[in-house]
Amino acid sequence: MMVVNNIRKMRDISARARGEGGRVVFVPTMGSLHEGHLSLLKRGADFGGLLVMSIFVNPLQFGPGEDYLTYPRDIDRDTEMAEDAGADVVFIPNEAEIYPEGFQTSVDVPFLGRNLCGHFRPHHFGGVTTVLLKLFNIVEPHVAIFGEKDYQQIVIVRRMVSDLNLDIEIDTVPVVRERDGLAMSSRNGYLKPDERMAAGAIYKALLAGKSCFDSGSRDASIIIGEVEDVLSVQPMVSIQYVKICDLDTLEDVDTIEDGALLAVAAMVGRTRLIDNCKLYTTPEIDSCTDGSAGTERAMVW
Ligand code: AMP
Repeated sequence: MMVVNNIRKMRDISARARGEGGRVVFVPTMGSLHEGHLSLLKRGADFGGLLVMSIFVNPLQFGPGEDYLTYPRDIDRDTEMAEDAGADVVFIPNEAEIYPEGFQTSVDVPFLGRNLCGHFRPHHFGGVTTVLLKLFNIVEPHVAIFGEKDYQQIVIVRRMVSDLNLDIEIDTVPVVRERDGLAMSSRNGYLKPDERMAAGAIYKALLAGKSCFDSGSRDASIIIGEVEDVLSVQPMVSIQYVKICDLDTLEDVDTIEDGALLAVAAMVGRTRLIDNCKLYTTPEIDSCTDGSAGTERAMVW
C-alpha cells in the first residue's frame, strides 16, 4: 500500500490507473478509523481497481468551538488498518497544500444543507462539499463511497455531483454499529464510561420510533414523540433534534407516505452524536437493522 502526502503524486497515481483502463474507487475520511470506515473500504474493494482512502481532518467543516483541534488523529494506526482492509493508496494531504494562502473558493449546496445538522452547524456542509470537490478533482475517482450514518451528507454530495456534472458514481454503505447499537463514530472515544452507557439510548430510541412506524403509525409527531420519550429518560442525553424528513429533499414531513428518514442528533455530555434510520413501508428494506453487514463486532438487532 502506498502512503501519499502530495497532491501531484496522488494525481499521477490516479492518472496511471485510469490510463491503464482501471477504475479508481475513493473513500474519503477524517481518519481515526473504525469498522464503519472499514466497511466503506470493503465495499470499495467490490468494485475492483485502485482503492484510495483519504485521511484529512478538514478545518473548513468545523465551526467555532467545535473539536477541530482535539479531533482524534492516529496516522500510524490508520494506515495499518487501511492496508489490512485492502486499500491500495492512503492519501494524507497536508493542510497547507489543500488550503494554501489566499484560498477562498467554496462550494455550497444551500437548501439541502438547511435542515437537520445543517441547522445546528451552519457552515459544516459548505466545508464538506468544498473539500470533497477538491479531493474529487485530485483523486479523479470513478466511484466514491459514503456511509449512511451521515445521510444528509450523502444527499448533499449527490446533489453536488449532479449539479456540477461530475462523472462520479456515489455509492453508500449502511450504518455500522457497536454491540448495543450505538453507531460507530470517531467521536465515541470522547465518551466517559457512564456517557458511553447512556449513548446506547440513541439507537434504542430509533428502534422505538421504527417500531411505532411498523405498527402502523404514519404521523411524524407521534413517532417523534416515541423517540423523544426514550431519550428523555437518560439525563446524560440532551436532544438536539429528532426529525422525520423526506429521503430526497430532507424537508420535514408530517405524514409518512412511502418512506422517510428518522434522524437524531444529541449531546451526550460534551459529545455530539448523530444517527438515523430509514422508515419504509416495504418490509424487506430494514435500514435500522442491517448495518453490521460484514463486521463481526457489530450487532444486528
Ligand atoms: P468521517 O471520518 O467521520 O468523516 O467519516 C468518513 C466516512 O465514513 C463517511 O462517509 C461516513 O459516513 C462513514 N462512516 C462513519 N461512521 C460510520 C458508521 N458507523 N457506519 C458507516 N459509515 C460510517
